[in-house]
Amino acid sequence: MERWVEETLHAGFRVRLKADRVLFDSETEHQQLIIFDNADYGRVMMLDGVVQLSTKDEFVYHEMMAHVPLFAHGRAKKVLIIGGGDGGVLREVLRHENLKSATLCEIDRSVIDLCREHFPEVSAGAYDNPRTRIVIADGTKFVAETDERFDVILVDSTDPIGPGAVLFTREFYAGCRRALAPGGILVTQNGLPFLQGPELKQSIGYFREMFDDAYAYLATTPSYFGGPMSFGWATDDGDLRRLRQDAVERRYADAGAFPTKYWRSEVHVAAFALPTYVRELVKG
Ligand code: SAM
Repeated sequence: MERWVEETLHAGFRVRLKADRVLFDSETEHQQLIIFDNADYGRVMMLDGVVQLSTKDEFVYHEMMAHVPLFAHGRAKKVLIIGGGDGGVLREVLRHENLKSATLCEIDRSVIDLCREHFPEVSAGAYDNPRTRIVIADGTKFVAETDERFDVILVDSTDPIGPGAVLFTREFYAGCRRALAPGGILVTQNGLPFLQGPELKQSIGYFREMFDDAYAYLATTPSYFGGPMSFGWATDDGDLRRLRQDAVERRYADAGAFPTKYWRSEVHVAAFALPTYVRELVKG
């Protein structure tokens, strides 16, 4: 019997994916998790009915969440990833050889264990890298209590449902502000502006209360159905998102010009050129 798996995130919009082979389908301690193979998207993981990852397009989101803030910052030594249990953002972050440490704070250990088993190419050994530290905890608690300060904080979270809802609150962002080193950058998974505009507007509104510069950038990941995905951006240095393309290219060259499938210096700069309907959501 053919099985179709439905994404249930949006009120009036649903997508169904054919599951050619289901590898895991059960509740974890925190959420409903399914992993299956699909002819068009490759291996797919969904949490609470929402696509988190597909092997055919994960490079888009993971490269853009990691490389835009790291090349914008230019001298980051310590990175914190909140969520990100699939290991894809961690993989890309660790390609920056000058980085001293990458801490991944994930609430659900099952996500890490199942992704190790069923998506080995996504983390590509990043979990076992000597610069990696894995913390199983709620991100809100971690940023509120840590004594460490991070140059870049990447919030690779689920949507504001289930355990991820707290990661879109003023309290959580205030915790991130507290855990950022001076000149640091906060980047957040902030949904699809076309379908989740109020979510982006609210997050950027909170950022504006705490940071001198609050904005967003975009990248289109085919398996995040509904248009471009937004990445919330918060820092006190408004020049970091206005770097010229040649300056970004120089930093890329200095980092060894490692091969990428989506991120390029031109794409980096263009990602901040927001279409009017998105700009309306992020401007004060
Ligand atoms: N890139 C995906 C997206 O944009 O939808 C997100 C992928 S990643 C798998 C999301 C992770 O956030 C999940 O593994 C989930 O367990 C984790 N997460 C959700 N709420 C969390 C919390 N409060 N603290 C830490 N991790 C959390």
